[in-house]
Amino acid sequence: MRTFAIVNRKGGVGKTTTAVNLAYVLATSCHLRVLLVDADGQANATQILLPRGEYDGLGALMRGMAICYDELVVHTDVEGLDVLPASEDLWALDLEAAGGEGGRSYRTLRDMGEAVEEDGAYDVMVIDCPPNLSAACVSAILASDAVIIPVLSDACSATGVADLMEQIDSLRYIRPEIRVAGVLVNQWHRSPVVEDAAAYLREDGRVPVYDTVIRRTDKVPESSWARMAVQQWSPWCSAARDYRAWAAELLTKEGLNHE
Ligand code: ADP
Ligand code: MG
Repeated sequence: MRTFAIVNRKGGVGKTTTAVNLAYVLATSCHLRVLLVDADGQANATQILLPRGEYDGLGALMRGMAICYDELVVHTDVEGLDVLPASEDLWALDLEAAGGEGGRSYRTLRDMGEAVEEDGAYDVMVIDCPPNLSAACVSAILASDAVIIPVLSDACSATGVADLMEQIDSLRYIRPEIRVAGVLVNQWHRSPVVEDAAAYLREDGRVPVYDTVIRRTDKVPESSWARMAVQQWSPWCSAARDYRAWAAELLTKEGLNHE
Protein backbone atom coordinates (compact mmCIF):
# COMPACT_ATOMS: atom_id res chain seq x y z
CA MET A 1 0.00 0.00 0.00
CA ARG A 2 1.10 3.58 -0.69
CA THR A 3 0.21 6.51 1.51
CA PHE A 4 0.10 10.08 0.20
CA ALA A 5 -0.27 13.00 2.63
CA ILE A 6 -1.59 16.23 1.07
CA VAL A 7 0.01 18.95 3.18
CA ASN A 8 0.26 22.74 3.33
CA ARG A 9 -0.03 24.95 6.39
CA LYS A 10 -1.90 27.49 4.31
CA GLY A 11 -5.65 27.17 3.95
CA GLY A 12 -7.42 27.53 0.63
CA VAL A 13 -4.59 26.19 -1.55
CA GLY A 14 -6.49 23.10 -2.74
CA LYS A 15 -5.50 20.32 -0.31
CA THR A 16 -9.03 19.01 0.04
CA THR A 17 -9.83 19.38 -3.67
CA THR A 18 -6.61 17.52 -4.49
CA ALA A 19 -7.16 14.74 -1.93
CA VAL A 20 -10.78 14.17 -3.01
CA ASN A 21 -10.07 14.21 -6.75
CA LEU A 22 -6.90 12.10 -6.48
CA ALA A 23 -8.79 9.51 -4.43
CA TYR A 24 -11.68 9.59 -6.91
CA VAL A 25 -9.48 9.17 -10.00
CA LEU A 26 -7.42 6.37 -8.43
CA ALA A 27 -10.61 4.48 -7.53
CA THR A 28 -12.51 5.02 -10.80
CA SER A 29 -10.01 5.37 -13.66
CA CYS A 30 -7.22 3.29 -12.11
CA HIS A 31 -9.41 0.68 -10.36
CA LEU A 32 -7.38 0.88 -7.15
CA ARG A 33 -8.86 0.35 -3.69
CA VAL A 34 -8.56 3.74 -2.03
CA LEU A 35 -9.03 4.92 1.53
CA LEU A 36 -9.33 8.68 1.93
CA VAL A 37 -8.44 9.74 5.47
CA ASP A 38 -9.89 13.11 6.48
CA ALA A 39 -7.44 14.52 9.02
CA ASP A 40 -8.93 18.03 9.05
CA GLY A 41 -11.41 18.87 11.82
CA GLN A 42 -13.28 21.09 9.34
CA ALA A 43 -14.31 17.81 7.67
CA ASN A 44 -14.58 19.27 4.15
CA ALA A 45 -13.55 16.04 2.40
CA THR A 46 -16.04 14.10 4.54
CA GLN A 47 -18.79 16.55 3.54
CA ILE A 48 -17.95 16.18 -0.15
CA LEU A 49 -17.84 12.38 -0.19
CA LEU A 50 -20.35 11.26 2.45
CA PRO A 51 -24.03 12.02 3.13
CA ARG A 52 -24.77 14.52 5.88
CA GLY A 53 -24.60 12.94 9.31
CA GLU A 54 -22.57 12.47 12.45
CA TYR A 55 -19.50 10.33 12.05
CA ASP A 56 -16.93 9.04 14.46
CA GLY A 57 -13.65 9.22 12.67
CA LEU A 58 -9.97 9.80 12.98
CA GLY A 59 -10.43 11.67 16.28
CA ALA A 60 -11.83 8.52 17.90
CA LEU A 61 -8.90 6.51 16.60
CA MET A 62 -6.29 9.04 17.70
CA ARG A 63 -7.79 9.31 21.15
CA GLY A 64 -7.80 5.55 21.56
CA MET A 65 -11.61 5.28 21.59
CA ALA A 66 -11.83 2.88 18.66
CA ILE A 67 -10.13 -0.45 18.48
CA CYS A 68 -9.55 -0.58 14.77
CA TYR A 69 -9.87 1.55 11.65
CA ASP A 70 -12.47 -0.72 10.03
CA GLU A 71 -15.09 0.20 12.67
CA LEU A 72 -14.84 3.80 11.47
CA VAL A 73 -14.47 3.48 7.70
CA VAL A 74 -17.55 4.45 5.64
CA HIS A 75 -18.19 3.28 2.05
CA THR A 76 -19.00 5.96 -0.53
CA ASP A 77 -21.23 5.65 -3.60
CA VAL A 78 -18.06 5.33 -5.64
CA GLU A 79 -16.85 1.77 -6.02
CA GLY A 80 -13.42 1.26 -4.49
CA LEU A 81 -13.48 4.52 -2.53
CA ASP A 82 -13.92 4.52 1.27
CA VAL A 83 -13.55 7.35 3.75
CA LEU A 84 -12.25 7.53 7.29
CA PRO A 85 -14.20 10.67 8.26
CA ALA A 86 -13.16 13.63 10.36
CA SER A 87 -15.18 15.23 13.08
CA GLU A 88 -14.76 18.22 15.33
CA ASP A 89 -13.07 16.21 18.05
CA LEU A 90 -9.77 16.55 16.15
CA TRP A 91 -9.57 20.03 17.66
CA ALA A 92 -9.99 18.65 21.17
CA LEU A 93 -7.15 16.29 20.44
CA ASP A 94 -4.74 19.18 19.95
CA LEU A 95 -5.74 20.68 23.27
CA GLU A 96 -5.00 17.33 24.90
CA ALA A 97 -1.69 17.15 23.05
CA ALA A 98 -0.80 20.63 24.32
CA GLY A 99 -1.55 19.28 27.80
CA GLY A 100 1.14 16.66 27.34
CA GLU A 101 -0.88 13.51 26.64
CA GLY A 102 -0.51 13.57 22.87
CA GLY A 103 2.81 11.83 22.22
CA ARG A 104 1.32 8.49 21.40
CA SER A 105 -1.25 9.93 18.99
CA TYR A 106 1.49 10.85 16.49
CA ARG A 107 1.86 7.16 15.76
CA THR A 108 -1.84 6.55 15.11
CA LEU A 109 -1.83 6.80 11.32
CA ARG A 110 1.38 4.83 10.96
CA ASP A 111 0.05 2.04 13.14
CA MET A 112 -3.18 2.14 11.17
CA GLY A 113 -1.27 2.01 7.87
CA GLU A 114 0.54 -1.09 9.10
CA ALA A 115 -2.79 -2.72 10.05
CA VAL A 116 -4.28 -1.85 6.64
CA GLU A 117 -1.19 -3.31 4.97
CA GLU A 118 -1.49 -6.52 6.97
CA ASP A 119 -5.17 -6.80 6.05
CA GLY A 120 -4.41 -6.10 2.38
CA ALA A 121 -7.50 -3.87 2.52
CA TYR A 122 -6.45 -0.93 0.29
CA ASP A 123 -3.91 -0.13 -2.43
CA VAL A 124 -3.65 3.56 -1.65
CA MET A 125 -4.34 5.81 1.30
CA VAL A 126 -4.77 9.55 0.60
CA ILE A 127 -4.70 11.81 3.66
CA ASP A 128 -6.27 15.28 3.51
CA CYS A 129 -4.45 17.40 6.11
CA PRO A 130 -5.56 20.47 8.05
CA PRO A 131 -3.95 23.89 7.50
CA ASN A 132 -1.62 23.61 10.48
CA LEU A 133 0.92 21.20 11.91
CA SER A 134 -1.54 19.74 14.42
CA ALA A 135 -1.23 16.25 15.90
CA ALA A 136 -3.32 14.83 13.02
CA CYS A 137 -1.10 16.49 10.40
CA VAL A 138 2.13 15.33 12.04
CA SER A 139 0.66 11.86 12.29
CA ALA A 140 -0.19 11.98 8.55
CA ILE A 141 3.32 13.12 7.55
CA LEU A 142 4.90 10.40 9.67
CA ALA A 143 2.61 7.77 8.10
CA SER A 144 3.23 8.83 4.51
CA ASP A 145 5.41 7.38 1.78
CA ALA A 146 5.18 10.71 -0.01
CA VAL A 147 4.14 14.22 0.97
CA ILE A 148 2.42 16.26 -1.75
CA ILE A 149 2.21 20.05 -1.37
CA PRO A 150 -0.50 21.87 -3.33
CA VAL A 151 0.23 25.60 -3.77
CA LEU A 152 -1.32 28.65 -5.34
CA SER A 153 1.17 30.16 -7.69
CA ASP A 154 1.90 33.50 -6.03
CA ALA A 155 4.76 35.29 -4.34
CA CYS A 156 3.98 33.85 -0.90
CA SER A 157 4.03 30.23 -2.06
CA ALA A 158 7.76 30.03 -2.61
CA THR A 159 8.58 31.19 0.91
CA GLY A 160 5.70 29.12 2.28
CA VAL A 161 7.13 25.98 0.68
CA ALA A 162 10.63 26.70 2.03
CA ASP A 163 9.24 27.13 5.57
CA LEU A 164 7.18 23.97 5.28
CA MET A 165 10.21 22.01 4.11
CA GLU A 166 12.09 23.13 7.23
CA GLN A 167 9.21 22.08 9.46
CA ILE A 168 8.97 18.71 7.75
CA ASP A 169 12.76 18.35 8.13
CA SER A 170 12.37 18.89 11.85
CA LEU A 171 10.25 15.69 12.00
CA ARG A 172 13.04 13.59 10.49
CA TYR A 173 14.44 12.85 13.92
CA ILE A 174 11.31 10.73 14.45
CA ARG A 175 11.28 9.21 10.95
CA PRO A 176 14.31 9.92 8.73
CA GLU A 177 12.74 8.57 5.53
CA ILE A 178 9.97 11.22 5.20
CA ARG A 179 9.91 12.24 1.52
CA VAL A 180 8.41 15.32 -0.10
CA ALA A 181 7.42 13.98 -3.52
CA GLY A 182 6.42 17.24 -5.14
CA VAL A 183 4.65 20.56 -5.32
CA LEU A 184 1.38 20.70 -7.26
CA VAL A 185 0.52 24.11 -8.71
CA ASN A 186 -3.23 24.70 -8.33
CA GLN A 187 -5.59 27.35 -9.69
CA TRP A 188 -3.19 28.01 -12.55
CA HIS A 189 -4.28 30.63 -15.09
CA ARG A 190 -2.60 32.87 -17.61
CA SER A 191 -1.31 35.89 -15.74
CA PRO A 192 2.24 37.22 -15.37
CA VAL A 193 2.32 36.81 -11.59
CA VAL A 194 1.10 33.20 -11.72
CA GLU A 195 3.53 32.26 -14.49
CA ASP A 196 6.48 34.00 -12.78
CA ALA A 197 5.79 32.35 -9.43
CA ALA A 198 5.42 28.90 -11.04
CA ALA A 199 8.70 29.43 -12.93
CA TYR A 200 10.40 30.52 -9.68
CA LEU A 201 9.23 27.38 -7.87
CA ARG A 202 10.56 25.20 -10.69
CA GLU A 203 13.93 26.99 -10.87
CA ASP A 204 14.37 27.03 -7.12
CA GLY A 205 14.78 23.26 -7.32
CA ARG A 206 14.53 22.52 -3.58
CA VAL A 207 11.38 20.48 -4.15
CA PRO A 208 10.33 18.87 -7.43
CA VAL A 209 7.32 20.54 -9.04
CA TYR A 210 4.89 18.34 -10.99
CA ASP A 211 4.76 19.03 -14.74
CA THR A 212 0.96 18.97 -14.66
CA VAL A 213 -0.73 22.06 -13.23
CA ILE A 214 -4.38 22.24 -12.16
CA ARG A 215 -6.17 25.06 -13.94
CA ARG A 216 -8.51 27.48 -12.20
CA THR A 217 -12.17 27.04 -13.04
CA ASP A 218 -15.43 27.92 -11.33
CA LYS A 219 -16.47 24.29 -11.77
CA VAL A 220 -14.36 23.44 -8.70
CA PRO A 221 -16.13 25.70 -6.17
CA GLU A 222 -19.42 24.73 -7.83
CA SER A 223 -18.60 21.06 -7.23
CA SER A 224 -17.79 21.64 -3.52
CA TRP A 225 -21.08 23.52 -3.21
CA ALA A 226 -22.86 20.49 -4.72
CA ARG A 227 -20.89 18.21 -2.36
CA MET A 228 -19.20 16.30 -5.16
CA ALA A 229 -15.74 15.74 -6.56
CA VAL A 230 -15.23 17.90 -9.65
CA GLN A 231 -14.65 14.59 -11.47
CA GLN A 232 -18.30 13.80 -10.83
CA TRP A 233 -19.73 17.29 -11.18
CA SER A 234 -18.06 18.23 -14.47
CA PRO A 235 -15.80 15.43 -15.72
CA TRP A 236 -14.64 17.30 -18.84
CA CYS A 237 -13.84 20.67 -17.31
CA SER A 238 -10.19 21.75 -17.28
CA ALA A 239 -9.50 20.95 -13.61
CA ALA A 240 -11.11 17.49 -13.84
CA ARG A 241 -8.94 16.62 -16.86
CA ASP A 242 -5.88 18.10 -15.15
CA TYR A 243 -6.42 15.96 -12.05
CA ARG A 244 -6.58 12.84 -14.25
CA ALA A 245 -3.37 13.85 -16.02
CA TRP A 246 -1.67 14.59 -12.71
CA ALA A 247 -2.78 11.27 -11.16
CA ALA A 248 -1.14 9.49 -14.12
CA GLU A 249 2.05 11.57 -13.67
CA LEU A 250 2.06 10.80 -9.93
CA LEU A 251 1.60 7.05 -10.42
CA THR A 252 4.38 6.93 -13.02
CA LYS A 253 6.77 8.92 -10.82
CA GLU A 254 5.92 6.74 -7.82
CA GLY A 255 6.47 3.61 -9.87
CA LEU A 256 2.88 2.41 -9.45
CA ASN A 257 1.15 0.51 -12.23
CA HIS A 258 -2.08 1.91 -13.49
CA GLU A 259 -4.54 1.27 -16.31
P1 ADP B 1 -7.67 23.66 1.32
O1 ADP B 1 -8.13 22.28 1.61
O2 ADP B 1 -6.21 23.77 1.08
O3 ADP B 1 -8.14 24.66 2.34
P2 ADP B 1 -9.66 23.62 -0.80
O4 ADP B 1 -9.40 22.41 -1.60
O5 ADP B 1 -10.79 23.57 0.18
O6 ADP B 1 -8.33 24.11 -0.08
O7 ADP B 1 -9.89 24.82 -1.82
C1 ADP B 1 -10.09 26.15 -1.36
C2 ADP B 1 -11.09 26.87 -2.26
O8 ADP B 1 -10.54 27.01 -3.56
C3 ADP B 1 -12.40 26.10 -2.42
O9 ADP B 1 -13.44 27.03 -2.45
C4 ADP B 1 -12.24 25.41 -3.75
O10 ADP B 1 -13.50 25.18 -4.36
C5 ADP B 1 -11.39 26.41 -4.53
N1 ADP B 1 -10.55 25.75 -5.54
C6 ADP B 1 -9.69 24.72 -5.35
N2 ADP B 1 -9.10 24.36 -6.51
C7 ADP B 1 -9.61 25.19 -7.47
C8 ADP B 1 -9.41 25.33 -8.90
N3 ADP B 1 -8.57 24.54 -9.58
N4 ADP B 1 -10.10 26.32 -9.54
C9 ADP B 1 -10.95 27.13 -8.86
N5 ADP B 1 -11.19 27.05 -7.53
C10 ADP B 1 -10.54 26.10 -6.84
MG1 MG C 1 -9.08 21.48 3.29
